Amino acid sequence: MSLPTTPTADLSRGRPYLAIPGPSVMPDRVLNAMHRAAPNIYAGGLPDMVAALWPDLRAVACTTQHVAAYIANGHAVWEAANANMFSRGDLALVVATGRFGLSWAESARAMGIEVEVMDFGKSAPVDMARVEDRLRADPAGRIKAVLTTHVDTATSIRTNVPALRAAMDAAGHPALLAVDCIASLGCDEYRMDAWGVDVTVAASQKGLMTPPGMGFVWFSEKARQVCAGADLRTPYWAWGPRAEPTEFWQYWDGTAPTHHLFGLREALTMILHEEGLENVWARHDRLARSVWAAFDAWGSGNDRIALNVSQATDRARAVTAARLGAPDATRLREWTEHRAGVTLGIGLGMAAGDDPAWHGFLRVAHMGHVNAHMTLGVIAVMEAGLLALNIPHGPGAVDAAARVVAGVA
Ligand SMILES: *Cc1c(COP(=O)(O)O)cnc(C)c1O
Repeated sequence: MSLPTTPTADLSRGRPYLAIPGPSVMPDRVLNAMHRAAPNIYAGGLPDMVAALWPDLRAVACTTQHVAAYIANGHAVWEAANANMFSRGDLALVVATGRFGLSWAESARAMGIEVEVMDFGKSAPVDMARVEDRLRADPAGRIKAVLTTHVDTATSIRTNVPALRAAMDAAGHPALLAVDCIASLGCDEYRMDAWGVDVTVAASQKGLMTPPGMGFVWFSEKARQVCAGADLRTPYWAWGPRAEPTEFWQYWDGTAPTHHLFGLREALTMILHEEGLENVWARHDRLARSVWAAFDAWGSGNDRIALNVSQATDRARAVTAARLGAPDATRLREWTEHRAGVTLGIGLGMAAGDDPAWHGFLRVAHMGHVNAHMTLGVIAVMEAGLLALNIPHGPGAVDAAARVVAGVA
């Protein structure tokens, strides 16, 4: 064994940071809580712990109504929500602001639900007046539910859910409102009951800081009643027994995801009982703004670098989508991953995979277990990459982000 004659400084050594919008960074406390012997699933600590977990699951979505949990990812809880809400041939109106809304629509269509998509494109918010008009044009109430994403993780557009509820109410339409919060729960402010949402779906691996593998469907009492006869419901996906089990196995329709549950317990303790949910939202808001400030600086004086969403009110606090001009987004991602230990998110659904333009988009995640040094570190590393790759950019990004973090912007 001999050392190379010319030492090279590999600056990617050290703890890697996966800054893609899910799975997110998992706290060591969550991982450590999972590291234990298999627990008894019939009596004792685990069933007791889960009984106490359900109130916290409701609390994180700001609801006092029902919640069903699944051993599942996000795609699976789309399907769970569809199966419980609809009968074959029912009409769903999908209000889409990116790839994830479109995918929920495809899932519903493939199940035999009639789906109408209002597609607001890849960088614009929902036009609530158009949604209201569409609902007014359905006086017979054929539309059973309006489906949307709170945050579409592909575009980083955040939908104003109370405004959508208001548009539905203004149209006097009885449809249920179903919201995908997979990217946003535990990151962006979300209040299921106060905002009049009937169905919320989320999964464990984003703001909830737990490994992928658990999905959740919260549903209102109204949804439970309106959907009682939904004929797409099958025994495994049925939300009723999961939300009101008489025996422990019914929470999962079988063996519980034992170790995930200990991880989730720890994560919800951190979110709800230590930091506090509103403080969690405030942290994400501040970190998101620091990322936006950096992009604004990089994009000043050129039209190659820009945030995807122009208005701050329409931007997610969990993830930021941006363009860098092809192929520089891909070059920068590869540089930060291999030279600095930071993995950024690919652009998703912004261009076809075989289109050279695909290499002009990336995403920065700032969801879950993230703090100022992590987000400022990502920004400084991106700055280094822009310099190393000789990608033209405006000055002052790190300073601008630091000012936001310092509260002196
Ligand atoms: C991640 C995500 C999904 C998909 O979740 P999977 O666990 O990858 O199936 C769906 N919707 C949104 C908004 C997401 O962020």
